[in-house]
Amino acid sequence: MFGSWPSEPTIYRRAMIGNEIMNFETVIGLETHAQLQTESKMFCTCSTKFGNDPNSNICPVCTGQPGSLPVINEKAIRLAVKTALALNCRINSESVFARKNYFYPDLPKDYQISQFEMPLAEHGYLEIEVGGQIKKIGITRVHLEEDAGKLVHKGSAGIKGADYSLVDLNRTGTPLMEIVSEPDIRTPEEARVFMEELAHILRYLEVCDAKLEEGSMRCDANISIRLAGAKELGVKTELKNMNSFKAVQKALEKEETRQKEVVSEGGKIFQQTLLYDEATSSVHPMRSKEGSHDYRYFPDPDLLPLYVDEKMIEEVKGLTGELPIEKFKRFVSQYGIPGQDINVLIESRYTADFFEETAKLSSEPKLSANWLIGDIPAYLNANNTELKETKLTPVLLAEMIGLVKTGALSGNSAKKVLAEMIKTGRSAKELVESMGASQISDESALIEIAEKVVAANPQSVEAFKSGKEAAIKHLIGQAMKETKGRANPRLIETLIKKAIG
Ligand SMILES: [Zn+2]
Repeated sequence: MFGSWPSEPTIYRRAMIGNEIMNFETVIGLETHAQLQTESKMFCTCSTKFGNDPNSNICPVCTGQPGSLPVINEKAIRLAVKTALALNCRINSESVFARKNYFYPDLPKDYQISQFEMPLAEHGYLEIEVGGQIKKIGITRVHLEEDAGKLVHKGSAGIKGADYSLVDLNRTGTPLMEIVSEPDIRTPEEARVFMEELAHILRYLEVCDAKLEEGSMRCDANISIRLAGAKELGVKTELKNMNSFKAVQKALEKEETRQKEVVSEGGKIFQQTLLYDEATSSVHPMRSKEGSHDYRYFPDPDLLPLYVDEKMIEEVKGLTGELPIEKFKRFVSQYGIPGQDINVLIESRYTADFFEETAKLSSEPKLSANWLIGDIPAYLNANNTELKETKLTPVLLAEMIGLVKTGALSGNSAKKVLAEMIKTGRSAKELVESMGASQISDESALIEIAEKVVAANPQSVEAFKSGKEAAIKHLIGQAMKETKGRANPRLIETLIKKAIG
């Protein structure tokens, strides 16, 4: 909406195409809306809580009653400033809220308060990594606005065919931050990576939970193509309704292919809005696109200009903490763990802190990382939960790692102990005792088992004697079965070999 896109269709002549294969360049820009994690709405004190009874979190301000006046939510300003700083933007000391005028039943004021000519922040960038290369994507602007309400259609899934529709204004006035990228993105894959990285940063900053699937983050994409080497931008279309990171890439791939086909056949691209249908993986026209002049933006006379001073910027800077990319670099040099493992560890700030605390307590960064990228996520996925929702703590995990290291607990038993520990929050020591999971390292207890296994498996014994080293594994396996996995594996191997003679 804010870039320098031409609004007239670009005409490609068939004569120019001839029989040659055309090389196109794709140009993509993204507009992201992120719902800010504030307790109250953008311009009133109503709760932003989700899932309450329809029209229970409303007041005269957010329902647009005559005489009501908006008051800016300071927390929302701070969260947007935090984001803008992380995206290397320049914060404008003065910015202005404007009215974007349009009618829709979920918008009782008939205008949305947004920022247009003077946004909160501008001229930033975000670095993404695609195919091993770092690429800088420009950030045009970061601004604040309010969300509209929600229509509930009765009698059908969508508005088409509905008997009637209801309006729920609970969401009306929820603080939104819009982040607009420059048209620097060149492939649908880059667009997906950009969105993933942006979501990662927003979660780290605790600004937004950034879930495309749940709508707390939404993305519209502008896409156009031009002949490789051309300076002018082609006519763009806008894609909406992409509810996952994968969908962002898929929708753009579809539209990129469609535009290339149209132009290759001598057709024109028209400016329009397209909806992505995830079920059929296709794009459909929604409406011809309005220009920004259609909205008759003007400064909201009820709101003073917004001033952000150096003091606030410094305060917010102090609260920002380490960003994912900085953490990544530090972990590489500090712990010597492979990059792909670090990516799992830094997925959330909670997991990253959990890892560092466990590594410190156990003095075993690599073992700590192994549990946190292997068995723990496997358990969490299987039980559809998150690490911070469980009773596991760095103290408990470090203690368990210690028991495995000293041989008091076998690797196999540790997995069982871990599952119990996550569920109950009991210590590994306690669990080992109550579950009888401790490793058997007592020679006298294992000799009997070794002899029994050797007597019961003459074939394997013969094979081993005739030089098949691997046959010993079967015998060890049998001994493990007998002891429910608790035999010290090195000791039992020695004892079996002794029993074979
Ligand atoms: Zn309200």
